[in-house]
Amino acid sequence: MAHDFDLFVIGGGSAGVRAARIAAQHGARVGIAECRFWGGTCVNVGCVPKKLLVQAAEYGALAEDARGFGWNSVRPEHDWAALIAAKDREIARLSRVYRDILEDAGVAVFEARARFESPHRLRVGERSLTAERIIIATGGHPVRLEIPGAELGIVSDDAFFLPAMPRRIAIVGSGYIAAEFAGIFAGLGARTHLVYRQPLPLRGFDGDLRNALAEALAGQGVILHPRTRPERVTGDEGARVLHLAGGGKLEAEAVFFATGRVANTAGLGLSEAGIVRTPTGAIAVDSMWRTVQPHIHAIGDVTEGKHLTPVATAEGHALADALFGPGPRPFNFSAVPTAVFTSPPIATVGLTEEEAARRGTAEIYLTRFTPMRHNLTGRRRQTLMKLVVEAPRGRVLGAHMLGEDAPEIVQGLAVAMTAGASKADFDRTIGIHPTAAEEFVTLRALTRVAQVSRAAE
Ligand code: FAD
Ligand code: NDP
Repeated sequence: MAHDFDLFVIGGGSAGVRAARIAAQHGARVGIAECRFWGGTCVNVGCVPKKLLVQAAEYGALAEDARGFGWNSVRPEHDWAALIAAKDREIARLSRVYRDILEDAGVAVFEARARFESPHRLRVGERSLTAERIIIATGGHPVRLEIPGAELGIVSDDAFFLPAMPRRIAIVGSGYIAAEFAGIFAGLGARTHLVYRQPLPLRGFDGDLRNALAEALAGQGVILHPRTRPERVTGDEGARVLHLAGGGKLEAEAVFFATGRVANTAGLGLSEAGIVRTPTGAIAVDSMWRTVQPHIHAIGDVTEGKHLTPVATAEGHALADALFGPGPRPFNFSAVPTAVFTSPPIATVGLTEEEAARRGTAEIYLTRFTPMRHNLTGRRRQTLMKLVVEAPRGRVLGAHMLGEDAPEIVQGLAVAMTAGASKADFDRTIGIHPTAAEEFVTLRALTRVAQVSRAAE
């Protein structure tokens, strides 16, 4: 039977837009449905507006720091409403660009919710249509903790549209979103509490980075509450109280749950399509993003794996190439670089010291220093740089940095690591002076050898 489309994509976010565009460029007849905002989470309530808020927060510190360089400036007042309006204009522009890209590529766009009626048939708004292949790219949404009064709190989707900047805020969690928004609100002048159950923020990141981040957040004025569990939220108009296990309480204008995200699968008609989910609620796929129905694929945040925009777009690209083009693009999904946009930011690629030590013996090269500018500004801000090297082969297994420009620097190191660079390759590379980045090619002294002893395992 001839279908209405060769490919139909559900979800116009990073993953879906890339898959639809590339498939159409390969000559496929492609349709795509988006029910909320073109560009999805990243463009509308994720990476892009987040980075604009991070940049907004940094201007305050830069204005203060400028005094160390002879600028007799007073710290200017911040206008939250003006920032949000400017951000909204930029996001509206970008979201339109995403829709235009699809139309320019010849993709049929539907501004509607889609759901399965049967394995090849979809209800898209008022229409019923069929497709030979279907890609589910519906992303995820933030979740609150299941504690009494949680509905009084906000999540990241809300944080981008607050009518006023909270002067006091309690953020729950210590993952990417909690760490980044703690930096944003503290940088904009809010009294910011970070409440988390771990001893250090960013579980899963390198231990030295986690320690350095805790110091950096504290140095920025964030009040850290490690090993702390929230029990309930109470409050009324404009005031919130976060009650902590053990009897403590934090009073704030907003309680922000940055406690993870779950896949968007509700109302998709997965049972009509015969698709199964994993225990965490994500759509189960194989290494080629096939669900249990071989003609239905799932990519991006709706699946398990790394929930990052470049991963979502790479999956969309590789899948479209595999289905309609010359074959899958050979992306390296094993060393995915990532950044946390705190102040200063973190960036990392490859194995942590802890992971490397569990696999064998690793040599650790570590440096901490005060960035040149802060010798003049007096700001107590340190940079940390670290290489994890496989012993005795010398292959660089991990590169980690907390410091100004870390994401820009580590992106370059990720290329070297994808090419299989060794410590000797780093050592024979000439630096650029004076930069922080040059430290990565002058890390001569071994800091320590890391190895998990059999007894400790
Ligand atoms: P999404 O972008 O969520 O797109 C899914 C789309 O599907 C949505 O637009 C949704 O409306 C639509 N949809 C859902 N159901 C249906 C349906 N039934 N019918 C039609 N449409 C539907 N990643 C980074 O790499 N760097 C960052 O700095 C970064 N910052 C982030 C900051 C925040 C606050 C958040 C929340 C995330 C951030 N991420 C970041 C993660 C990144 O945004 C996601 O990994 C990425 O957006 C995933 O893309 P996706 O296409 O899988 O899903
Ligand atoms: P994360 O998974 O990064 O962090 C979730 C946090 O919530 C953790 O600190 C976790 O604690 C805590 N948590 C979860 N459940 C509970 C509970 N029951 N009680 C107490 N604490 C709990 O999720 P985020 O929401 O921060 O971000 C979602 C994803 O979006 C990220 O994982 C990342 O993939 C992506 N993202 C990427 C960004 C970037 O690239 N810069 C920025 C923002 C988001 P614990 O560690 O103890 O489990």
